Amino acid sequence: MRVLIVEDEKRLAATLRDLMELSGYTADVSNDGESGLDNALSSIYDVIIMDVMLPRLSGFDAVRRLRAAGVSTPVLMLTARSEVSDKVEGLDCGADYYLTKPFEPRELTACVRALCRRQPELRSTDCLHCGDLQLDKASFTLSCGERSVRLSRKEYDLMELLMLNQHQIITKEMLLVKIWGYESDAEDNNVEVYISFLRKKLDHLRSRVKIKTIRMVGYCLEVPEDRPAEK
Ligand code: CA
Repeated sequence: MRVLIVEDEKRLAATLRDLMELSGYTADVSNDGESGLDNALSSIYDVIIMDVMLPRLSGFDAVRRLRAAGVSTPVLMLTARSEVSDKVEGLDCGADYYLTKPFEPRELTACVRALCRRQPELRSTDCLHCGDLQLDKASFTLSCGERSVRLSRKEYDLMELLMLNQHQIITKEMLLVKIWGYESDAEDNNVEVYISFLRKKLDHLRSRVKIKTIRMVGYCLEVPEDRPAEK
């Protein structure tokens, strides 16, 4: 799960990033409204935390443009303002929730969790299923029948993305920005290395699910049709 934090106060942005990472999310930070909007438009985020008073473009305008562009990523507005009119404007412009600074860290993380749950593909919470595989979000464990392996953070993120989009091809570019982030200098090689780690783990689990390479494009999961158990 990937969270975008749009906040110009550097210390607060760092605190928010730490909070999100402690809660198991991957977090990116944008320090002004314009770059925040650019990042948000990529649709790679599961939740966006957006300040209101931002250089170059206000949080209200950023969310307005985001919604006008058809991006429905949940937005949590975070601001020092507490006037009722600001809250109304925040919600009217397309934000999903409004939290006033100073906030309780626990309240913020609860809000982010609640917003994540609103997205249908993420709603079924603790475990993801795909073919004979089960991915446990709390323990980062991938299992198949009696066998299970623990995944590293990146392996987990990759597997989660593949499982959430099991009928689609995921491009290498998508994997790079979604898992390594915009600021990373990771390259296609990094993706290939992690895909090969995951394939080894799938072999070890004796899963019938395979990660298929679509040449020059990306990857998708190959999930065999259910068939009666062999005797
Ligand atoms: Ca600000």
